[in-house]
Amino acid sequence: MGAEFELISHIRARVAVDAAPGFVGIGDDCAVWPPRDGHDLLVSNDLLLEGVHFELETTPLTDLGYKVLAVNLSDIAAMGGEPRFATLALGLPGLPTPFIPLVDAFVDAANAHGVVLAGGDTCASSHGLVISVTVFGEVPRGQAVARTGARAGDGVYVTGTVGDSAAGLTLLKQAGPPPAGVSEQALDGLKRRHLRPSPRCREGILLREEGLASAMIDVSDGLAQDLGHILTASGVGADLEAEAVPLSPMLREYGTACDSDPLEWALYGGEDYELVFTVPEKRERELYARIGSGAIQAARIGTVTAGPERRLLRSGVATPLESRGYEHFR
Ligand code: ADP
Ligand code: MG
Repeated sequence: MGAEFELISHIRARVAVDAAPGFVGIGDDCAVWPPRDGHDLLVSNDLLLEGVHFELETTPLTDLGYKVLAVNLSDIAAMGGEPRFATLALGLPGLPTPFIPLVDAFVDAANAHGVVLAGGDTCASSHGLVISVTVFGEVPRGQAVARTGARAGDGVYVTGTVGDSAAGLTLLKQAGPPPAGVSEQALDGLKRRHLRPSPRCREGILLREEGLASAMIDVSDGLAQDLGHILTASGVGADLEAEAVPLSPMLREYGTACDSDPLEWALYGGEDYELVFTVPEKRERELYARIGSGAIQAARIGTVTAGPERRLLRSGVATPLESRGYEHFR
């Protein structure tokens, strides 16, 4: 048997075959997924390239296998959907066996999120490791939360904390020792947030079910740029309160130690995979109740305006909110 098929057999043995009545997974020409009545299908694809999105020197294969799924789950979360199944296409720069930890981590992550690996493709690559993941999710018909629904007066919110991942990447890329005065715990925590982001699936579903979010997006390229996508799609502006942007204690600790402004990472860093969403003013009390009960962790960071200006308010001073963040063709 070819090495490619050994890897596929390995994957197949680890994947549930009875995910749903009528489901056909790995082993046929196509996967068969019986759609649920009254639902829309959500589809999201991500391509991850060695040398562009990750370096194998700084990224263990197990983290990579986890992260390639997590970033796609984050897109499903940003529409308020439930992830169901995924496909995994691999271009491998050598024999398949050394990449078993990657597929194992992927399958572990899929199982942990109730996602079935339903198929994929496996090829040799002459250009480093190539990984393409497609995730399919479901959302009750017509209820996917788009980027287009933000209206003047809505509150702007973000889940969790932002900036950790970008600071973690800085640490991972750093050749020398980390700055003095940062605890081991903070250093590990920041790196972990870059290598193992937590997609906010539960939060996205809650916001959609309760009808609280008028628009939503996940933070992949940076809070400023991704919020900008909501504002552009909705034809509105926003005032963002710098002091309200939620920063983790470990990010503050690291920022102080290397004399850097943590807000830079938080606004322009990216790969946080938190959710940014807007909430109509008359629904904000309900959201606060959810935050108060611990059902969701989120902070109000600003207000949608009629626009088109996007302003950053800091110590009472307003400056234009730059939309810089990660861009590929720069
Ligand atoms: P085909 O020639 O029809 O593309 P393949 O030989 O590429 O079929 O794949 C055989 C089966 O294994 C298919 O069901 C395919 O979806 C699955 N498969 C191949 N590679 C992967 C992978 N990396 N992860 C999951 N399933 C895979
Ligand atoms: Mg194939």
